[in-house]
Amino acid sequence: MAPALAPAALFGLLIGSFLNVVAWRLPRGESLVRPRSKCPGCSTQLKAYDNIPIFSWLLLRGRCRGCGESISARYPVVEAITAGLYVLVVALKWGDALQIALGLVLVTFLVPIAVIDLDLKIIPNKLTAPAAVLAVALGAVLEPSYLPEQLIAGFGALLFFYLPALIHAKGMGMGDVKLAAVLGLYLGRAVAPGLFIALILGVVAGAAIIGLKGISEGRRTKVPFGPFLALGGLVAFFAGDAIVNGYLDRF
Ligand SMILES: [Zn+2]
Repeated sequence: MAPALAPAALFGLLIGSFLNVVAWRLPRGESLVRPRSKCPGCSTQLKAYDNIPIFSWLLLRGRCRGCGESISARYPVVEAITAGLYVLVVALKWGDALQIALGLVLVTFLVPIAVIDLDLKIIPNKLTAPAAVLAVALGAVLEPSYLPEQLIAGFGALLFFYLPALIHAKGMGMGDVKLAAVLGLYLGRAVAPGLFIALILGVVAGAAIIGLKGISEGRRTKVPFGPFLALGGLVAFFAGDAIVNGYLDRF
């Protein structure tokens, strides 16, 4: 197991760096491949050696080499989280090709989805649609016998969230419904604890905001639900089967 973890971390850093680009450019309709990244302050194009994940940011102490404008800590954080999750997927799912493939692809979509939802309170179809297609394709190619469970879980999650979203449960939109369905396609039956965890986190966060801001202002604050779905989905991906089996064993 161990030899695969270093490549997983390295690969995760590089993909994480690309996901920063995706999270910024995709919702703004810009090309994902060119031009090269620029400093938003002085428009200097980043040199390759200033674009090394995490290390460049640390070396430059979070400032542009040209104009000294500060560069958000979010960039190295996204890179570190992506790398950490890649390592977890490989370490915990070692020996199961489908689970490793599903896990790496899931992380690759959930990171920009969470960042974009936090930023702009939208979950682009341009991310959920290809994520859904890839989940089905991976299941069909690597383990066709698992595909029915993926489809049932995806459809079940869709139905579970569709009605509340229709009645306009606070802060939940169609983007969240589609993301829940995507989680079903990746998690199979483990999507149930995943959605449950996401709902609990959402309720706790809502209560915390009302506690901080007071009832009237707190109720007007729109809390994006995507990051909670992403978090619940990841916890369930890593621990969901244990949760489901533990629960079933009690009966
Ligand atoms: Zn600059």
